[in-house]
Amino acid sequence: MRGCWGRRDGSWVLPGTLLAVQTAAFLWVCLQYPLRGNPAACSVSTASEVRLNSRRAPMIWPPPPPELTPIPTPPDPGPLDDELEAGSWDNSFFQDRFGGRRNAVARGGGTQGPGGTEGAVCAGLRWLTRHQADDGSWTGREFNGCLGCAGLDPDADPVETTALGLLAFLGAGYTHVARETYVDAVSGKTVSWGETIRNALRWLLKHQDPDGGFSSPSGSRNLRAEAIAALALGEAYGTTNSLLFHSAAARCIAALTSASRSEGGWGTSVHAATGDMATTAWALCALRVGRANGFTIEKAAVGRAHQWLDLEMKSADRSAEALFAHILTDSEWCTDSIVHTLRIAKTDAPSAPDPMEPELWHWTTLALFHATAPDRPEWRDWNERLTSRMVRAQVRNAEDCPAGSWAAPEDYPGGRLRATALNILTLETYYRYPRRLCAPALR
Ligand SMILES: [Zn+2]
Repeated sequence: MRGCWGRRDGSWVLPGTLLAVQTAAFLWVCLQYPLRGNPAACSVSTASEVRLNSRRAPMIWPPPPPELTPIPTPPDPGPLDDELEAGSWDNSFFQDRFGGRRNAVARGGGTQGPGGTEGAVCAGLRWLTRHQADDGSWTGREFNGCLGCAGLDPDADPVETTALGLLAFLGAGYTHVARETYVDAVSGKTVSWGETIRNALRWLLKHQDPDGGFSSPSGSRNLRAEAIAALALGEAYGTTNSLLFHSAAARCIAALTSASRSEGGWGTSVHAATGDMATTAWALCALRVGRANGFTIEKAAVGRAHQWLDLEMKSADRSAEALFAHILTDSEWCTDSIVHTLRIAKTDAPSAPDPMEPELWHWTTLALFHATAPDRPEWRDWNERLTSRMVRAQVRNAEDCPAGSWAAPEDYPGGRLRATALNILTLETYYRYPRRLCAPALR
């Protein structure tokens, strides 16, 4: 009997009525295989898969997985790809970033073209795209594997650097629905800023705490990072009217407001004994944008912050961030602020031998721009000195990896990444917010 049931080559032959049983068993095995085998083999039909199911194949259980090239996992579209263009954009607070951008640049004293301020913004955004981590964040720990750009800062809070990177794109009028693509001169990859922004927003939303705030890698709340994140989420919502960001932006504003000090302003952390001027300035910017977005803003928190800033400014050497925060959120400050900003413009005007000061230049440019008329000699002088210094300091060779970035000052927090994002924001001053924002005020 054994000779009737098996062949020397190992295959099986069943006589008579048992042939049907063999066929059924064979079909059962074939049907079971896709459920137990390599999932990648389930969705494609290749020569090797056909061979596996042929009658000449030896009956081995479990069957070995075929040698197939794994199918790349498609990128997770996430909720951001559910396009929300339904809510039309009509927020005049951000209008200069879009249709009025070119005119705003000309009025403010900026310049177009590769050697101009707009060319520097474009090159800077390309550098940011090139150095975004795969998960969508910008981190000072590594520049997406780049070894050619110095200036890492492992201690930089990724919430802060990611939010700053986002603000740089949003400030130039690019949002998560941008569809333009280009081929990067360094990496050779086709990239899209819309995808860059979507990935960064997805990372930010993923790392938002349930109460609306953000925790730093150490687990504590870094309020400066949280304030910048609140501003970025607020601008992501305000520039698109996309409901995808409404809840996250509103909850972040609520968390930030609840973290304000009873003495006024915001400290660098919830438990900080003293207030911090830069954190307070970023927080007031976030609240002002929140107001433009229609969120409920606690006026008492804004009033306390103003009082605290007034006291601090009397003893501070440099207080450009406080000036701009005042101008942005307090109409009664417009006249007084001119005196202060003109003094700063005289003493802190950028010049070639001076080291880069991204923080100071960012806030002073904003304060001067919004406190003075475009034809004021103080503004024109500051603007010419600033733009000349910044454009010349930017790495410009388009085929080098650092192209579009700025070297950070020594021991600068956030390193090259933060310096570059802040410098881009500074060069976007002409159109980020409408000039003379004093009204409507928050109090
Ligand atoms: Zn690089």
